[in-house]
Amino acid sequence: MSGCVALVVGAGQGVRFGGAVPKQYLPLAGQAVIRRSLRAFLNHPRVDAVRPVINPEYRDLFENACAGLSPLPFVAGGATRQQSVLRGLESLVDLKPKTVLIHDAARPLVDADLISRVLDALEKTPGAIPALAVTDTLKRAGKDARISETVPRAGLWRAQTPQGFRFDDILAAHRRLVASEATDDAQLAEMAGLAVAVVEGNEDNMKLTTSDDWLRAEQKLGAALEPRTGSGFDVHRFGPGDHVTLCGMKIPHDAGLEGHSDADVAMHALTDAILGALGEGDIGHHFPPSDAKWRGAPSDIFLKHAGALTAAAGGRIVHVDVTVICERPRIGPHRRAMVERLAAILGLEPSRVSVKATTTEGLGFTGRAEGIAAQATATVLLPPPAR
Ligand code: MG
Repeated sequence: MSGCVALVVGAGQGVRFGGAVPKQYLPLAGQAVIRRSLRAFLNHPRVDAVRPVINPEYRDLFENACAGLSPLPFVAGGATRQQSVLRGLESLVDLKPKTVLIHDAARPLVDADLISRVLDALEKTPGAIPALAVTDTLKRAGKDARISETVPRAGLWRAQTPQGFRFDDILAAHRRLVASEATDDAQLAEMAGLAVAVVEGNEDNMKLTTSDDWLRAEQKLGAALEPRTGSGFDVHRFGPGDHVTLCGMKIPHDAGLEGHSDADVAMHALTDAILGALGEGDIGHHFPPSDAKWRGAPSDIFLKHAGALTAAAGGRIVHVDVTVICERPRIGPHRRAMVERLAAILGLEPSRVSVKATTTEGLGFTGRAEGIAAQATATVLLPPPAR
């Protein structure tokens, strides 16, 4: 291999607010922190492979967080970050990458342009790191909180990750300096006499440490979500029966609706609308009618699935609107209950759910009372596709 491998190092035990789960496995705006970090590199066109370094004690959390992604198999980290990086580097020896990017899993907002800047600089120097110039005046103070001096800030930088190196150089430095305690990989490179360049970092590429960091990251990601709108349409024909199911409510009627599941035409249209917003095909793709296990199934299974797919994509449903098209039964008396039922299934405030009905003035198949049609739209906020 001649390309670039990213090591995403998330073997630390640091938890948030005294919880039991290391922070890299906590959801940030709907997606685990480590998933966001891995995706930044998996999606980068100039990164050929991504090696996670984790504590195997959290294997289940890791596998959950990374469902559907394809990094290299993880390697177990060590007792310190430096040991974890060394184990990660040793695991790449057979792959023989030309360059390696070493990144903290707890920096989930790293962006593609920053990664590219590090890679560009690596073409000219053995090492390159993103960093931010220090703009605040720096003071040194003792334990008594009395300032002892003002530190000149000219030429001072705050180091971030990913830190990039030529693979053979940084592996040799880590092996040789295994007994030293460096604060980052660039320090080991410096100690080994390697030239390391600084490229422009990004304030958003912060290491999640305090709850303020967390809030800022959530806001940043929330602002970055983009709206998508999906539409759905469905029809079911009347057959023998004494009730229909619409938006999860059983409504007495002199006919039933035919269909494989409970034939909830309104919930099917809504499920398709959400799947449409996600670009995830349609209900039949996820729940094939040929599969006997969906016979008579309550349709909230389908709607819940669409809601779960939205969450898995890091998204949020902000509004849904369903129109039921029929002459009878009358929808009005059930409208409020339908809104509340759909809201409960999707975990939304009822004000984000609209249900309405119309007739077709006696025209067409709904006018002739041959069946019921429904259409729906869903507005979903989603992270923009990775560039
Ligand atoms: Mg249907």
